[in-house]
Amino acid sequence: MPEFKKPGPRPANEALTRPFWEAAQQHRFVVPQCVACDDFFWPPRAACPSCLREAWKWAEVSGRARLYSFTIVRQPANPAFLEGVPYVYALVDLEEGIRMVSNVVDCLLDDLQNEMSLVAMFEEMGDGWTLVKFRPARRQAR
Ligand SMILES: [Zn+2]
Repeated sequence: MPEFKKPGPRPANEALTRPFWEAAQQHRFVVPQCVACDDFFWPPRAACPSCLREAWKWAEVSGRARLYSFTIVRQPANPAFLEGVPYVYALVDLEEGIRMVSNVVDCLLDDLQNEMSLVAMFEEMGDGWTLVKFRPARRQAR
């Protein structure tokens, strides 16, 4: 009997976020940056949240970040994520000053610490989508 697998969720506003997804497929990490006040912001939206101007561009960021907070998910709310448990649901602070939700991968769960240095990486989902995730910036001596 074929196994039922629920498809993963898709971007809610794909027209607005398409440049982000296209860049991720090319392993480039871009976020909105205001052309008036230079602030980076996340998530993408019509106007800069700092100055409310509607002029912004997609700007490539370094991928360097720190782990602000996290939880280990063992029972996902969305059944599409069952295969991946346990996984790390994380709030990540980019050095450009924005906080985003992502996953921390390639890290032993016991090694997770708030404020640890992370670096962005790209995970191909095999269905045309590439996600930006984070891994420890360097292996920690144990
Ligand atoms: Zn602005």
